[in-house]
Amino acid sequence: MNNEAKTPLQLQKKLLKGLGFGFVEAPMASPSVTSVKPAGNRVNPAPTGRAKRSAPPPSNAPRPSVLPPLNSLPPLGEEEARAELEKLRAGITTCRACDLSVGRHHAVTGEGPVGATIFFLCEAPEEEDDRSGHVLQGKLGEMFWKIVAAMKLDREEVYRTLATRCRGIKGRVPRRSEVEACHPHLRREMEIIRPGMIVCLGEFALESLLPEEATKGMQRVRGKMLEYRGVPLMPTFGLDYMHRNPTKKRDAWRDLQVVMGHLGRK
Ligand code: SF4
Repeated sequence: MNNEAKTPLQLQKKLLKGLGFGFVEAPMASPSVTSVKPAGNRVNPAPTGRAKRSAPPPSNAPRPSVLPPLNSLPPLGEEEARAELEKLRAGITTCRACDLSVGRHHAVTGEGPVGATIFFLCEAPEEEDDRSGHVLQGKLGEMFWKIVAAMKLDREEVYRTLATRCRGIKGRVPRRSEVEACHPHLRREMEIIRPGMIVCLGEFALESLLPEEATKGMQRVRGKMLEYRGVPLMPTFGLDYMHRNPTKKRDAWRDLQVVMGHLGRK
């Protein structure tokens, strides 16, 4: 990746710096998942003003140490899934579990179908998302939909959401404690959507689902098919990072081609 970053820690520092997320040498949150082999889980899917990660973490129950595979959960009917999503969205839009809620215009909820082919997990709302309350607006949304088209996916088969739902003041960097505070929303969302595959776009997205993998740094884990609760998961660069480092788009595209191969869309 470079001449000076040789160890995983250096790589992680450099990558996070590139993402504009800063870096804290703190232990990552404990993992919430176990590796489970079986796949097939569908029921029916930077700004300026970077702040230091110095505030105390919000009060939040610890993650369960073991979670069952998504495809082992009781099936949800269409209506039930819709009702559960509504309940989840109401919970997100009124959530004040962390300091990111201070100054937000809207908490942004995920969008897309239950049983999505791919669940795209992005990092944090952009300014346009915060203003509109909808995910992936503005320039990053444009880039996202171009990627979806290039992957030969229909819009109707992709779910897109965020690891943290509120935009901090001046787009400040989410703290790890805030990613953790927001994780229960994401966990529930996945249990309702039950996607065929997950793509984590960016380090914080990966951190929310597989914190231990995220400690290795995106440069080391990207392109490798991982797993979250029985669902194949591909980590790659975040949209904002690609936007600011266009040369990284080629690497991300290679990762997404692995996903396409998995789906038989190549
Ligand atoms: S970022 Fe997540 S946890 Fe924090 S207030 Fe917003 S919805 Fe709640």
